[in-house]
Amino acid sequence: MDQEKIGKFIAACRKEKGLTQAALAEKLGITDRAVSKWETGKSLPDASIMMELCELIGTNVNELLTGERIAMGEYAKKAEQSLIEMQAKAEKADRNLLRMEIAMGIIIIPLSIVLAKISEIFSNQGDALIGNALLVLSYVAIVLFGFIGLKIEHDAGYYECPNCGERYVPSMLSVILAIHLGTARRLKCPYCEKKGFHKKVISKKKE
Ligand SMILES: [Zn+2]
Repeated sequence: MDQEKIGKFIAACRKEKGLTQAALAEKLGITDRAVSKWETGKSLPDASIMMELCELIGTNVNELLTGERIAMGEYAKKAEQSLIEMQAKAEKADRNLLRMEIAMGIIIIPLSIVLAKISEIFSNQGDALIGNALLVLSYVAIVLFGFIGLKIEHDAGYYECPNCGERYVPSMLSVILAIHLGTARRLKCPYCEKKGFHKKVISKKKE
């Protein structure tokens, strides 16, 4: 609880009602020093007079303890707006991940083909050690890319069932084992249990 903010709020409400510290103190049967202490954030009003105080300065306990006016409609709207912004941010991050996967593929797949070709040249010239090392490197690059790609495809966004239209995140294992066409995978829907090619979608909510 921000005592200073609460104090400023009490002072503002009191002034709105055209009350001096002394006048408010008198109505509450307390000293004006006590009111001054609330308003400077040195103490909080005692629970026993909280309700009466709120009534006198035209507020309620909720507002007093948060130290600001709460318009209910506004409050809900603000919360919803933050949620939408958070979701948009997460979706943008997912989109970037999927783009990164494609970029990785564009670089790594040709690179490992080139590595394999170079290894062949070394092997043909009798330099089997360098040849084999390059070949292993090209395999490692492909396997690593495959694994990172799978991880990205699993983590980013959702898969959509073409049968019932539900969107869900499958288990990592089912993604690894699934046959795929582009970013669509043959998966079993956890809602309707039908198997089919489920396409990758970014958002949980349907547009
Ligand atoms: Zn389904």
